[in-house]
Amino acid sequence: MVCGEARVFFDTHCHLQDVRFEPDLAVRMVKAREAGITNFVCCGTQESDWDAVLKIATTHPAVLPMLGLHPWHAHQAQSGWLARLAERLENPRIGLGECGLDFAIEEPPRELQEAAFRAQLRLACDLNRPVSIHCRRAWERLMAIAREEGLPVAGAVIHAFSGSAEIAQEAQALGFYLAFGCSLTNPNNHRAAKALKVVTEDRLLFETDAPDMPPYGSTQGTLNDPINLRLAVEAASRVRGIDPEALATVAYRNSCRVFRSMLPKACNTLSLGFDKAIEGNQGTHHKGDTDGEIKGG
Ligand SMILES: [Zn+2]
Repeated sequence: MVCGEARVFFDTHCHLQDVRFEPDLAVRMVKAREAGITNFVCCGTQESDWDAVLKIATTHPAVLPMLGLHPWHAHQAQSGWLARLAERLENPRIGLGECGLDFAIEEPPRELQEAAFRAQLRLACDLNRPVSIHCRRAWERLMAIAREEGLPVAGAVIHAFSGSAEIAQEAQALGFYLAFGCSLTNPNNHRAAKALKVVTEDRLLFETDAPDMPPYGSTQGTLNDPINLRLAVEAASRVRGIDPEALATVAYRNSCRVFRSMLPKACNTLSLGFDKAIEGNQGTHHKGDTDGEIKGG
């Protein structure tokens, strides 16, 4: 994975556990790898999909798992969810996400979203784990909470960035990375283009959010696919007026920096220890467990 030797891509946010991918995920993964996408950060959205995320990461070493409670599901969380999340995150190869704030929706209420987000941001800071953040129409509160809680040194990503250029500048000054996706392929998305132009090179990431947010012009019902990451990078290179290969290299380097703690040390390592974090693996958890004590299933 030498940057510059070939065009390589790093999908910093997707949802491969989505049931819509179930029939043909393996084929999609092969095609995406062939297209140069070397890594896929796969984000959980609620406790019920955490095991599926970890299982995919166990099967596909190119998949980097993150677990979190999405603001859309903040009201559905079962009591004790945060402690169970912290327990899963004892494995240092697991990041925290997707979490965040979405004030474009009425429910769940803002206070509930904020409490869930603040608790997860605090956990990511305590464990120094990369965090992937969803934010819609809640910029003021996001920045305020980030100032109060701080951000994990590992890296904090605002995924599918939809804010203005001014917000982009404020966010990167606070230390956020900003990730852009296929919404850039819409030539009428001037807000995203303006924001993209002010992002400094060292803060820029790309993602698909697959299966959501397919490229502009896709027929209704088309699933977004990690392979479309190339389209996002190409659209961004047009907006920024730079060579797509150079932009891909810059973003790839940034991705490796943010997610370095989650990358397998050897690419052929199949046993990453995620099985230990998968629920149902012999129930009770002992605090003194070490990495070597993975129970057989
Ligand atoms: Zn997402």
